[in-house]
Amino acid sequence: MFSQSMVELGQKRSTIREIFEYGKQRIAQIGAENVYDFSIGNPSVPAPESVRDAVIDILDTEGSVAAHGYTSAQGDAKVRATLAEDLNRRFKTHFHADNFYLTVGAAAALCSCFKALAEPGDEFIVIAPFFPEYQCFIERGADAKCVIVEADTTAFQINFDKLYTAITPHTKAVVINSPNNPSGTVYSEETIQKLASLLTKKSAMFGHPIFLISDEPYRELVYDDITLPFITKYYTNTIICYSYSKSLSLPGERIGYVLVPDELSDAKTAYAAICGAGRSLGYVNAPSLFQRVAAKCAGQTADLTIYEKNRNLLYEGLTDLGFSCVKPQGAFYIFPRSLEADAVQFCERAKKYDLLFVPGDDFGCPGHVRISYCVPTNRIVRAMDLFAKLAAEYR
Ligand code: PLP
Repeated sequence: MFSQSMVELGQKRSTIREIFEYGKQRIAQIGAENVYDFSIGNPSVPAPESVRDAVIDILDTEGSVAAHGYTSAQGDAKVRATLAEDLNRRFKTHFHADNFYLTVGAAAALCSCFKALAEPGDEFIVIAPFFPEYQCFIERGADAKCVIVEADTTAFQINFDKLYTAITPHTKAVVINSPNNPSGTVYSEETIQKLASLLTKKSAMFGHPIFLISDEPYRELVYDDITLPFITKYYTNTIICYSYSKSLSLPGERIGYVLVPDELSDAKTAYAAICGAGRSLGYVNAPSLFQRVAAKCAGQTADLTIYEKNRNLLYEGLTDLGFSCVKPQGAFYIFPRSLEADAVQFCERAKKYDLLFVPGDDFGCPGHVRISYCVPTNRIVRAMDLFAKLAAEYR
């Protein structure tokens, strides 16, 4: 009577959500101060004051009808022009309003892309460790095949030997996410150059473009003065999916965009397909008020410095305790090796101390755990004794 596949999807929560819900139960039982929830990537710093000012200003100056009304399906033209100008200023690019399709966050941006690009038999490659929802978006949303490339667990860059063999004539696109959820890795310029030359070679070999979908909700969350390579400058057939969920701390407002550069193969058709996919999914238009907020706050971020402080505390604390982890350079996750082979068991054991984090299995990288540090700093400070007790169990 119902779509079995959707019933299954609706009944089974993601592991992250399972643990987050468990955390809420524990909070009700023992109090928030006794639960050390590092499970979810919900920004812990407030949106900047300018967001509040923008909301008030838009309502005062544009009025409720315009602020809450429908916009063009691809987003308000002035908003899109402002976003283009902002990127051009910051990254020395040459985008214009019609390169942008505003979306309901990065999730909708990705879903629109996958659906727009997928033809029967197509494959999309994701590189482990990866955001688990990719599989759902590709397989359930776009009816395509999700091909997983094993992780390079030494640095969490790209395992090029594995990627080379994973690309077939059926490959429609490769998805990358840097800064990465869950590893916190930032792909180096060398990695991006290598990736671009591999995709160029394989596109020529198979006689059709292999697209690169760059999922960038953490673009502004980079540490140690690292400069992030802007991907469209390295590979022409790049489509960017962006979101303000993390950079402006607005995850519940659902605002982001797809960026389709003019240089993309058959860019106008690709853009039309993305609009069509958004229409078929019933997105109608991205939230009207927050389209305007995004434009007014273009180029700004929440105070992200706290995440770097949290990263330093956790990285130093965990490595002192003997955990093995690659130092994250961005996003707000750290991805140490589990202290036992089975990361699911390890996360279960951590629950004894009310330490909540998630196994790497769903991210395509068993044997690791993701610890999300978009939390109040004092939660990390208070949790270190418990991490020490947990580690002591394995000595
Ligand atoms: N992509 C990655 C890598 C993410 O980590 C997330 C959310 O955590 C998303 C996409 C979805 O972002 P949004 O909340 O903007 O839809």
